[in-house]
Amino acid sequence: MGSNGRAATDRRGTGGWESVLEVERTLEPGTEWHSELYRIAVDQFRRAADLLGLEEEIRARLLEPRRSLVVNFPVRLDGGEVQSFTGYRVQHTLTMGPMKGGFRYGPGVSLGECAALAMWMTFKCAIVGLPFGGAKGGVRCDPNRLSEGELERVTRRYASEIFPIIGPDRDIPAPDIATGEREMAWFMDTYSQQVGHPVPEIVTGKPLVLGGTEGRDIATGLGVVYCIEELMASAGEPLDAQRVVVQGLGNVGGTVVRELAQRGVTIVGVSDVTGGVADPDGLDAAAVEAWMAEHRFLRDFPGGTQVGRLEIVEQPCDILVPAAVEQQITAENAGRIDARWVVEGANGPTTPEADQILAEREIEVLPDVLANAGGVTVSYFEWVQDQQKLAWHGAEVAARLRIQLEDAFRRVHEAKEGRGTDWRTAAQAVAIERVAAASRLRTIYP
Ligand code: NAD
Repeated sequence: MGSNGRAATDRRGTGGWESVLEVERTLEPGTEWHSELYRIAVDQFRRAADLLGLEEEIRARLLEPRRSLVVNFPVRLDGGEVQSFTGYRVQHTLTMGPMKGGFRYGPGVSLGECAALAMWMTFKCAIVGLPFGGAKGGVRCDPNRLSEGELERVTRRYASEIFPIIGPDRDIPAPDIATGEREMAWFMDTYSQQVGHPVPEIVTGKPLVLGGTEGRDIATGLGVVYCIEELMASAGEPLDAQRVVVQGLGNVGGTVVRELAQRGVTIVGVSDVTGGVADPDGLDAAAVEAWMAEHRFLRDFPGGTQVGRLEIVEQPCDILVPAAVEQQITAENAGRIDARWVVEGANGPTTPEADQILAEREIEVLPDVLANAGGVTVSYFEWVQDQQKLAWHGAEVAARLRIQLEDAFRRVHEAKEGRGTDWRTAAQAVAIERVAAASRLRTIYP
């Protein structure tokens, strides 16, 4: 990349269009998306692609996101001053149908992060058999430092900036970190104002009254729990005998804690961004939930022993559910993970180096693209209902979610056993086979 570029300039000296073109030609493809998370996504992809013997042409088509939009926009803050924000929307593949993926707010949001997450969304949809390609977006900001009014203006302006590449049959955003029903309502309203009529199907994860679906709020966490149930059944282990640690107490982690506790599972550790608590005899999950509802953060929770927000993943347990942010289990701490299974509620919580260490220690990892696919599955249900102007009952949503995830789990399990590989590579192989088949059939336009 850079070294090639420099060599070309050195050979030709400085100045002149030819040397500039030469420098540009020698940049590696994909330089724009390089990030630690994208490196992880590519590493995982290559492992599965090698296992499948995937041809070079399809590899190249699946590795690079098809479209990436970067926008900069001004927002007036409550104090009257103007702040500039950077936003992204990355669409990984247009081959499978419209694109689908959340948008997030955070100080570290970047093009490279969105590119990795968009690729994982493609694979997630393919594993569950949804007619979508993957996308992801976000705005770089610290949502905890913005007022509600400022967040609304950021959301509305972001929606109008990415308007040219989204649409109910093109790209349908959804919630992700630090975005939820409220942001989806603002987003839906902004898009509808632009086209002149209500378009509920432009986003999923909306409030019910605006065309949201029953069950979307708990779908990702419930999907994680369904996957844990399938995992225990395949291992011949009783669910209610397991001790579980959950990192992150937001939409995903909070639901996982509640649903597992209702199934008799012992929750021995939880954490959020402010820190964690652990108790080998079990925490009172209802008390944790009530505390979070009242205080927003776990800090000062009166129960268990205080543990750091990252150290929580090293607490002894049977099942560790990272459900916070990416890159939490790394080469640095993988040797100290004291669990039998890791079930990834978050996207990208385990690095490839950690994967290898966990494999050597015979700790199985159920990957994000399967374990947290419940969210996009119910998003798909919401989109279908919006298109048909129908509303399903909550029990129907939960039943359909279970069917889709059981099927997905079975496909991945069969691939794991059949190909003699780990869960992550098996899941990616299932997904890549499906997307590659569609890519071959559609060939290349023109
Ligand atoms: P959220 O914003 O609702 O919650 C995130 C939680 O993680 C919060 O409790 C926060 O305090 C905690 N946290 C943040 N940084 C942390 C840190 N460094 N250490 C410990 N805890 C930390 O977000 P969410 O929607 O629950 O998403 C969590 C993860 O699940 C993300 O990786 C997201 O991409 C993934 N995911 C979410 C959905 C969904 O439907 N919401 C779907 C699929 C995947």
